[in-house]
Amino acid sequence: MDKIFMGVGSVRLEQLKLGVLSPFGDYLSVVTAKEVGTIPTSHLSLFKDFCACGSDMIVRLQPESGSITALTCCNPQCYLKLKFQLAALFERFGFKGIGPETCGKVVNELWRSKGSVSLFEVLCETAGCTVLSGADEVAFFEALEHVRASRVSYGKFVSNLAYPFIGNKFGDVLQGISSTSELVATMKDEGGFIPFFSKRGVQSVDTIFHFMWFLKELDKITECFSSCIVESSMNIIPICMTGIMQSFDRKLTKSQYLEVCNSIFVKEDGSKIADLVSTETVSKALFVVVGQDSIEKSTSKFRKALDHEASLRKAGIISDSDKFWYTPEEFLYLLHARAGEKDE
Ligand SMILES: [Zn+2]
Repeated sequence: MDKIFMGVGSVRLEQLKLGVLSPFGDYLSVVTAKEVGTIPTSHLSLFKDFCACGSDMIVRLQPESGSITALTCCNPQCYLKLKFQLAALFERFGFKGIGPETCGKVVNELWRSKGSVSLFEVLCETAGCTVLSGADEVAFFEALEHVRASRVSYGKFVSNLAYPFIGNKFGDVLQGISSTSELVATMKDEGGFIPFFSKRGVQSVDTIFHFMWFLKELDKITECFSSCIVESSMNIIPICMTGIMQSFDRKLTKSQYLEVCNSIFVKEDGSKIADLVSTETVSKALFVVVGQDSIEKSTSKFRKALDHEASLRKAGIISDSDKFWYTPEEFLYLLHARAGEKDE
């Protein structure tokens, strides 16, 4: 026991394993791995027993060979992981140009001054923070502003936070949920968090464990960024545009074309039936709008759209009469037809 250093917020692997979920099933603490000889004597000095945050360092063992495949700290909220999480977070929100190093300066300073640091503090309580200067300061606050200006579903927002073990597909798991309180209520309705996740195809106890760990601060973070979260009941239609958006006799930029599309879905009272957003990736789009030039040149996006349409048709996701890709004019006709249907 004397080896155990209880730093502020430090976490012990053995305590975590006693919990309901018993996460980290295929991990051993470095201390234990050294004791049982998993880490050979010649390598002992390469593996630190404890992380700088005071928690156990742990190694993941490959079940068959018993060889070490990963080394990490068992504290889900380790401040050293936080800088990588932040860099990934900004990237998932589409902001480029800020890396773990700059994020680490903010995180380290909060850790130094308070002895603890959470994602909530970094995102919501750093206004007026004087840790950064010069280009770092500009980049960090620009990145935060970028997040504040985003407009995504609740699930997408949560997955964009890039928590450890929470992949960027997690948005699908939370589809149809528009707030943390709704999430908690749904879990209760469905008999608890384990049935909730298994119903949605999440098998990994490590993922569920991490999600539940972060759920508490998630409430505060999503509250703080509530203006970014759009109602999930609102119909969001991702479209991918390629080539020149020629609409009748007008040549439009992609954002102008998107504006024209969106104006079709605005009702007389100003409310919206649906919201079209642009995506660069064909497979993420619900429709692809292909300019004539792109068809003529048979660009790679157009070919991808053709392939994707074929696979959707094969899987029975779209019928013979439906299409996946449209010319800019055809697509406007389609939107008018759909807006008419929804109005009735
Ligand atoms: Zn740590």
